[in-house]
Amino acid sequence: MLTVKAAREIVLDHCRSIRPDGLATEVVPLPASQGRVLAEPVHLDTDQPPFDRSMRDGYAVKSRDLDPLPARLRCVGEIKAGEVPTRILKSGEAIQIMTGAPAPEGADAVVMVEHTESLPKDEVAVLRSVPWGANIAPRGSERRCGELLMPTSTRLGVLEVGGLAAVGKARVQVYRRPEVSILATGDELVDVDQEPGPGQIRNSNAYSLSAQVASHGGVPRVLATAGDTMEQLRRQIRLGLESDLLLVSGGVSAGKYDLVEEVFEELGIRILFEAVSMRPGKPTVFARRQQQCVFGLPGNPVSTFVAFELFVSPVLKALQGLSAGSLNVVRGRVQGKILEKSGRTALLPAAVTLDSGRIRIRPLSWKGSADIFSLADANGLVVVPLECRELLPDQEADALLFEPMRGLSGCEF
Ligand code: AMP
Ligand code: MG
Repeated sequence: MLTVKAAREIVLDHCRSIRPDGLATEVVPLPASQGRVLAEPVHLDTDQPPFDRSMRDGYAVKSRDLDPLPARLRCVGEIKAGEVPTRILKSGEAIQIMTGAPAPEGADAVVMVEHTESLPKDEVAVLRSVPWGANIAPRGSERRCGELLMPTSTRLGVLEVGGLAAVGKARVQVYRRPEVSILATGDELVDVDQEPGPGQIRNSNAYSLSAQVASHGGVPRVLATAGDTMEQLRRQIRLGLESDLLLVSGGVSAGKYDLVEEVFEELGIRILFEAVSMRPGKPTVFARRQQQCVFGLPGNPVSTFVAFELFVSPVLKALQGLSAGSLNVVRGRVQGKILEKSGRTALLPAAVTLDSGRIRIRPLSWKGSADIFSLADANGLVVVPLECRELLPDQEADALLFEPMRGLSGCEF
């Protein structure tokens, strides 16, 4: 059976074949760009700062006028932010200036107002000297006009939105969000607003998958549930193939009514793998019809969730123009003991914390792959590698985080 690593390599290989320049793009207003991915490089439209900018409220001066101290200077004017200086500063003079205002010609420094005392008759006493250039950010000292600010394929977070505003990008070209069809299968499923009858359960996967798709930047399209018949599966899978990506949940194990793979083959969807040596999530199917990816995810809710994180999320990234990249893996010390008898790579619910600079991984108790409630307290999965049958207290281990810890994660296990 394929290892997790080998299965991911097959998926990542497919992701590399998705070329950003072949993806559809759209133009959105700046406020709607948060969370999207840039489909154009963005350059600076002016020098930053665009003029010699005062960084303090104070007085624009010639620094060599400040010897001896206190220096008495004639205050000859005032410049507010948004104004343009109207006179050149001469020796023996000071001009009052506010933070963000352009420094006048002739001035080479700004003295903070806290280090001055205003005197009668428009004079000011400067109590401390400042070096040449103090408190003035020269034009272009941060960035130069024309410089690349953000390359194509930048994910737009809060700071990026601010950066785009600063360079006047009122409208932004981004990659279109991929549409992802979600098809839950199973005769036993009822929808969330229905009371399950004998032998029935609620279709939770359609909702968790839909939320996972949205949180990874896709647009979920939940299809009507298919019962376990060839005919219903055929019809709904065909519908799902209209989207950029299709996720089928359930019907991929070895049971008599697990018919999804049979329908895949019938519809010309080529199966690239149908099992991965992992727990939970063993019966994960990755398939393709031409360039389009289709996943068959195991029906058990925890398995579905884990298989999505490992195999679906890189495809969703690639379909948005991002590099499929690596997993959010951190290395820490295990608190507690884990015995793993499955002979597969185990990914078990865990609480990962940063405690005085050390990462601690606390395995949480769970009752198997149907036990979705055990995930509620987890922020990651502790990895018990294939070759390892147990993890002992204080032993080093990898944990796959659901959300990245800034600067801490980003590798494979
Ligand atoms: P299957 O992979 O179809 O054999 O399903 C495995 C287990 O997952 C069974 O106990 C199913 O009842 C359960 N299951 C399948 N689909 C869903 C779903 N959409 N929501 C919640 N549980 C499901
Ligand atoms: Mg089923």
